[in-house]
Amino acid sequence: MKRAPTTQGPALTDLPRRHEALVVLDIDEVVIHFIEPFRALLEEQGARLHVENFRLTGNVRSLSTGVALTGHELDRLTERLYEEQEARQGLVEGVREAIDEMSGSADIVFLTAMTPSFYPVRRRHLDASGLEQPMIATERSKGAVVAEMAVLRTGPIVFVDDLPPNLLTVGRSVPGAHLVHLMASETFRAHLPPLPPGAVGARDWPHARQLILQRITGAPPLPDTAGGA
Ligand SMILES: [Mg+2]
Repeated sequence: MKRAPTTQGPALTDLPRRHEALVVLDIDEVVIHFIEPFRALLEEQGARLHVENFRLTGNVRSLSTGVALTGHELDRLTERLYEEQEARQGLVEGVREAIDEMSGSADIVFLTAMTPSFYPVRRRHLDASGLEQPMIATERSKGAVVAEMAVLRTGPIVFVDDLPPNLLTVGRSVPGAHLVHLMASETFRAHLPPLPPGAVGARDWPHARQLILQRITGAPPLPDTAGGA
C-alpha cells in the first residue's frame, strides 16, 4: 500500500493571522543555502557536481572513477546535509533583513519539501538564526498546501521558490498568487527551465524584497536603481 505523504509543523488553521497578506517562502536556496553546501559535501566525499542540465542525478561523478553517483547515493548525501544543516547551510544574504521588513505588512510562513523527519533540526536552525516564523515541512504538493492557506485569508499571497515546477503548481492551484523566483546559487541558473507565466525572477534578496513589498502593499513599482545588472 502506498504511504500517505507526511507533514510536520503547525496546522494551517493554527497559523497566526496578524495581517491579511501572506508571504510563503521555500527554504532551501531561498532562506538557507543548499546547492553550494551540497557541492562542498560532495567534494569531501570525493565527488563533483558537473552541471550539464537542471538536475542532480547523473551530474555528480566520483573524482577517482568518473562514475555517476546513483539516486540512492545522492539521497543519502542529501540526508546527511539535512542532518548537519545547522553547521552547513548558512542563511542566504539579506534574507533576515527582508523578513524583518516584510513582517510589518504580511504574515510569513516557511514551506519546505525537505523530508519532514528533519523538521526539529531545521526548526532549531531557523530559531537560532532569528527566524521564528512558522514552518511547514511536507511531502504534499506545495500548490495544494498554499491553496488551503489561501481560503483562510483575504489579502494578497506571494509565493517564493527556486524551483520553477513549484511556482507552476502554486500558480495553477492559487490563480491569484504572485510568484517570485529566487535561487541563491548561480550554479544552475543557466540551465533553469522557463518560469511559468506571470512569475517574476529576483536576482537576490534585496531585489526580491522590493518585488514582494510591491505586491503586498500595492505600492507602485520603484525605479530599478540597480540598472538591471
Ligand atoms: Mg528550494
